[in-house]
Amino acid sequence: MDFIKLYLKEIVIVCVWVLIIYFIFRRIFGKKVYGQYSDEILKYETDDFILTGKPDRVLEKFGNLIIYEYKSGKTPKKPYEDHVIQLGAYFILFEETNKKRPDFGIIKYNEKEFRIENTDELKNKVLNLIQDYLKQTSHPEFIRRNHNNYGKCHHCRFRSECKQSLVLNKVPAHDI
Ligand code: SF4
Repeated sequence: MDFIKLYLKEIVIVCVWVLIIYFIFRRIFGKKVYGQYSDEILKYETDDFILTGKPDRVLEKFGNLIIYEYKSGKTPKKPYEDHVIQLGAYFILFEETNKKRPDFGIIKYNEKEFRIENTDELKNKVLNLIQDYLKQTSHPEFIRRNHNNYGKCHHCRFRSECKQSLVLNKVPAHDI
């Protein structure tokens, strides 16, 4: 106790500095809102579909809510369209789950990062793609194969009905 009394002023100064450094650090590097180790899976449910996903990281920085998506591999000149769509889906998922609209997102490649705005245009694009996908897969007749992956068809639950299956044996996957 004598020690505390003796150095009370110094202790208070150190505490104040620790707090100042902590707040500066948080302001610069952001406060983590969601990360890859978060248990919660973001979800958007309608009568037609359920969309789920887990973005790599969500930070609150300078008053902005930012979704980060990290991509390995070659750095492109501009972000790949499917990566932008994925981020757009995360914008919707985060907003639906947390009732807070993210301001923008960052797609971070090895050598460069790209800022993607959370616009209504991107939101509509994602929702239209989902509707297209639902239409295209609403009946096995409508399925258009977009790959040449034998294994994918082999394990697919639609293979017994799919006219585009690469697998000749049409035994339903669940009977194997
Ligand atoms: S069987 Fe093959 S082509 Fe048909 S839906 Fe499944 S994965 Fe697609």
